[in-house]
Amino acid sequence: MNTIKNDFPALRQRIHGKALTYLDSGATTLKPQAVIDALTAYYTTINSNVHRGAHHLSNLATEAYEQARLRVQNFINARTSEEIIFTKGTTEAINLVARSFGEAYIREGDEILVSAMEHHANMVPWQQLCKQKNARLNVLPVLENGSLDMEALPGLLTPRTKLVAITHISNVLGTVNPIEEIIARAHAKDIPVLVDGAQGIVHSRIDVQRWDVDFYVFSGHKLYAPMGIGVLYGKAQLLNDLPPYQYGGEMIDKVRFEETTFNVLPYKFEAGTPNVGGAIGLHKAIDYLCERNLDELWKKEDEVLKYAVNQLQKIEGIRIFGTDGTRGGVISFLLEGIHPYDTGTLLDQMGIAVRTGHHCAQPLMDFYQIPGTVRASFGIYNDMQDVDILYEALLRVKRMLS
Ligand code: PLP
Repeated sequence: MNTIKNDFPALRQRIHGKALTYLDSGATTLKPQAVIDALTAYYTTINSNVHRGAHHLSNLATEAYEQARLRVQNFINARTSEEIIFTKGTTEAINLVARSFGEAYIREGDEILVSAMEHHANMVPWQQLCKQKNARLNVLPVLENGSLDMEALPGLLTPRTKLVAITHISNVLGTVNPIEEIIARAHAKDIPVLVDGAQGIVHSRIDVQRWDVDFYVFSGHKLYAPMGIGVLYGKAQLLNDLPPYQYGGEMIDKVRFEETTFNVLPYKFEAGTPNVGGAIGLHKAIDYLCERNLDELWKKEDEVLKYAVNQLQKIEGIRIFGTDGTRGGVISFLLEGIHPYDTGTLLDQMGIAVRTGHHCAQPLMDFYQIPGTVRASFGIYNDMQDVDILYEALLRVKRMLS
């Protein structure tokens, strides 16, 4: 009996008359009732702005918001809570670093290294920064099996390399990259590393101090929390030296028409009214996961994922991408002779939610010379039965379209 499913009210829906089989957690996870209740409670009671009001509810909001920061600090083992900046999500966190780090440190002729499997969110901001600064975007290649070409790494870490920006787990292939090795090699040349943890934090324990990572970013909504809240972790000494990303309320110290001085961390990077409800929801989501023994949940999720790979491999003419032996959360595949959109549309008719297309990784699609894939991605609520439903449905798709 899968009791976790009961915690997610969205799973009680029927789609096109069929029970929903949700296999799109890589795009966004469903929310447990506990998180929805926490959001409702915030908006029905506290509903105040933070750090400003002298009144009781504002103090409660400030307290809850800062408790959420402490919870995130503890969850990823950051040294201090000032190293946790709340953002809209991964995309905003990367843009923040690109803009701010770029302004401070990137000069003409400098280099930034990304990989060929990056989500556009961890590629386009660096590409545009390089254009503005006449810098160079280098790309660590991907091998056919979906792993990074680690032999190419030393040659790409040059004296001009100012930052490495790399994903922990590929949202397309599921490849789990050797982040600790990449960080060690970059640090040996004094190059800081930003890790895109949008998919990573959802499937594995993150300890930013053990990794010694310089920046780590993720989105709440992929971690069973609401949309519109995310995190930029950065080492305090790095963040302290960076200029603000946006200007306005909250991030200032003293404002005169001649000159403005800025607030301390983390507020320096949190201009304007923050997403207080979202932060509270993120706090609740982390609590929810940890109270249910997250390592056990991940172990079960991994068993389901392995079973899925095993089953899907039995389908004649299926091509599964990412075959290097590592896999976190996702399976991308194509059925021979069938366009991914057609597969996705038919699966939807059968109540199965998957994602089709380029998954915001067009350069990776170009590498494989394909228009896109079908991606089934898994969360803690998925079970073997969901895999059986997908497997049978794919056999039906094949019978209908082959
Ligand atoms: N990076 C990766 C690896 C992702 O999978 C995603 C979203 O799918 C993002 C970045 C962007 O996340 P968001 O849209 O929440 O900012």
